[in-house]
Amino acid sequence: RYTGPDADEIMRKRREFLSPSMFCFYKKPVNIVHGRMQYLFDDNGRRYLDAFGGIATVNCGHCHPDVVKAIVDQTKSLQHSTILYLNHAIADFAEALASKLPGDLKVVFFTNSGTEANELAMMMARLYTDCHDIISLRNAYHGNASGTMAATAQCSWKFNVVQSGVHHALNPDPYRGLFGADGEKYAHDVQDLIQFGTSGHVAAFISEAIQGVGGIIELAPGYLPAVYNSIRKAGGLCIADEVQSGFARSGSHFWGFEAHGVVPDIVTMAKGIGNGIPLGAVVTTPKVAEVLTRRCYFNTFGGNPVSTAAGHAVLKVIEREKLQENAHVVGSYLKERLNDLKSKHEIIGDVRGRGLMLGVELVTDRHLKTPAKVEILQVMEQMKDMGLLVGKGGFYGNVFRITPPLCFSKEDADFLVDVMDYAMTKL
Ligand code: PMP
Repeated sequence: RYTGPDADEIMRKRREFLSPSMFCFYKKPVNIVHGRMQYLFDDNGRRYLDAFGGIATVNCGHCHPDVVKAIVDQTKSLQHSTILYLNHAIADFAEALASKLPGDLKVVFFTNSGTEANELAMMMARLYTDCHDIISLRNAYHGNASGTMAATAQCSWKFNVVQSGVHHALNPDPYRGLFGADGEKYAHDVQDLIQFGTSGHVAAFISEAIQGVGGIIELAPGYLPAVYNSIRKAGGLCIADEVQSGFARSGSHFWGFEAHGVVPDIVTMAKGIGNGIPLGAVVTTPKVAEVLTRRCYFNTFGGNPVSTAAGHAVLKVIEREKLQENAHVVGSYLKERLNDLKSKHEIIGDVRGRGLMLGVELVTDRHLKTPAKVEILQVMEQMKDMGLLVGKGGFYGNVFRITPPLCFSKEDADFLVDVMDYAMTKL
């Protein structure tokens, strides 16, 4: 039984001692004290189905026993920095991780977060190419330090950051984008940016395969191969940000970029890599990795034994429990059911995504695509009261983000759709 402070007490402490910029999706927030696989429990022992755990990002499920055991065992034997001595945990995990990547992508740098991973990736690309210009997509999210905030392109996530060499290309968004699902046309915009906005040479192109914070947007087909081609002709490297779409979440593939038939020069990852443990990584080729030998480079806690033991356990669980296949099977089923819901409720403008990374965009007018900003909050609050937690995002904040732990079942999918159906009927 939970005997700690209640929601009001925590809110009071939050208001007094924590960042005033912290936000909460709910009018009446829940006090979560316990997690088990795809379920969360509040201070009254009430169970919630967690359809948004992917954000924090428990691919294997909350408190998965194998991952917990790996963390506890390693914590009991050694927790230290990686920089001074040898330890097997980091080497074993690097080898296992590299085996999941195609081509020559086999040198791993560990970090503590996705932001750090993308900062490092962009710095390496700039060193390797001797160029400064980087192209990223409007509606992208890549992190909140100076370089990554510059590459991020949504005003809600930007402070007074120096843009420093970043160009934001048109978003190849099949639902709201200028050219619909015609990937080649958006790719021309990147070609234009290179020609008109740079010296003709660039350092890198960075993008997610499915935009997460941006509202689960799958890049238009044909876009990535054409852009990778233009970037490479301009001497640049291609960076795939797999912080959200990686680690089997997209179901059809282990990495999101694979669905586009491209092989990046640098891949960045975080979130799902550690099932909730702070861990990130940059994986690149030996040739690109070489640039960091020009000076000394280290990260005190990046790749520490406890984080890497967790990461290694996660890879084993994904494989043993066939979580990629489950993401594909359950995700396809859920998407189908959500599409049926779209035929019933006018407010659903679009259902999209892949595997267990799905988005449901709410609009008050399907033709004008007017964002249903108020209605989404109402539906979300009602679903929470019925025991279902989902996320929210997109430029207008009108997209449900469904990124559950990958152990999500068909019964969970049914519960999700039934609850959403009921909450929308109540509008
Ligand atoms: N890239 C993507 C695609 C992300 O979604 C995020 C976090 N939302 C980041 C990078 C930054 O990761 P972190 O919050 O771990 O720094």
